[in-house]
Amino acid sequence: MKKLALHWQILLGMLFGVLFGLLCSQFDWGKQFVIDWIKPFGTIFINSLKLIAVPLILASLVKGVSDLKNIAQLSSMGGRTIGMYLFTTLTAVTIGLTIVNVIKPGNTLSDETRSELLSAYAADAAAKQSVAAAQKEAGPLQALVDLVPSNIFNAMQDNGNMLQVIFFAIFFGIGLVLIPKQKAKAVKDFFDALNEVILKLIDLIMIAAPYGVFALLAALIAEAPSADLFKALGLYTATVLIGLICMILFYIFLVRIFTRKKIGFFLKGISPAQLLAFSTSSSAATLPVTMERVHEHLGVEEDVSSFVLPIGATINMDGTSLYQAVAAVFIAQAFGMDLSLSAQLGIIATATLASIGSAAVPGAGMVMLVIVLAQAGIPEAGLALIFAVDRPLDMCRTTVNVTGDASVSMLVAKWLGKLGTPKVKNWDDNYPEK
Ligand code: ASP
Repeated sequence: MKKLALHWQILLGMLFGVLFGLLCSQFDWGKQFVIDWIKPFGTIFINSLKLIAVPLILASLVKGVSDLKNIAQLSSMGGRTIGMYLFTTLTAVTIGLTIVNVIKPGNTLSDETRSELLSAYAADAAAKQSVAAAQKEAGPLQALVDLVPSNIFNAMQDNGNMLQVIFFAIFFGIGLVLIPKQKAKAVKDFFDALNEVILKLIDLIMIAAPYGVFALLAALIAEAPSADLFKALGLYTATVLIGLICMILFYIFLVRIFTRKKIGFFLKGISPAQLLAFSTSSSAATLPVTMERVHEHLGVEEDVSSFVLPIGATINMDGTSLYQAVAAVFIAQAFGMDLSLSAQLGIIATATLASIGSAAVPGAGMVMLVIVLAQAGIPEAGLALIFAVDRPLDMCRTTVNVTGDASVSMLVAKWLGKLGTPKVKNWDDNYPEK
């Protein structure tokens, strides 16, 4: 019998997860049952993905950089990557600002709902504010200082330090390019083999993906807040979603125009990573799968994918920046504030920087939103207004973040002549028995 393609398997897992979560919520014991007996499998699945993220970045980036012919190639790839990431992020914020100014979702929030939300989520909002306060205290060059680890083993201990691991891997790769070939060979072969092993581990983990997403979504539904709050924030949610859909269309347009690849080819190739991003709300946890799909299914050569994607997962968050722009203006509208043009231009700058600074983990975009609010003079307590729907929106914005990284990697590969025919055809996705 023909095996169901991976993205269908994952979609079915998600669907059954939602249904199971809904079913269990009907019983008094249901929620606790899901938390005790189902949720841990979702956590194990996410942990297993995170487990291989750091070794994967190290192995694939060292291999990728050391495969380059010279350092000039690296700087040209780096320049294009950062340029495209900035361009897509600025586009996202601009789309978000335009849509929120047209729809004006904050104006429709009644005073009653506003005070209800403010009191219900005041404590949660305060917790995010205090995390953000720690980040705000840092000096202007702290981000640059944080890029360079003083000890690589310490850096590798914490998944939050991915940029440091990326820095080390690129630096190490440059060293490998610069020493005589016969000396570099042993080290290169080692990282090459390590890379292969880790790619195989991703294949193995993906066998469990449909069950992993089942557990994640069942737990999410069982723990979700009441549906009434979702309704009150319906227009805000719709505004963010419309913006995110515009971004997906924008990527499809970019990929079609610049790489001439079919839309179906792109979407089929990347969809398992998108579905995982949606289920885990974490670009970092999804990174191993994004890298595998982009290389093996979209045809991006490994030296490009291993460079562009880990950097993208940490600094390119278009969905997050769009959400931050919409959320900031929504909160201002809800408080009856009229934001001037210069305040809105300020939001473009701060949302771009805040999304770059957001960690690739669930809820990180909301922490950095505090900084956007503070810069624009919008009350930070307003975070409480959007708390109830943050998780579902996080799932959607993470999907956009991952799609953005994949699209940019295809464009950069195309410009460098490194977009080939994929190893695995998408049309008869026989994953994982390649
Ligand atoms: N969860 C997002 C990500 O991992 C970040 C955020 O917007 O909270 O890409």
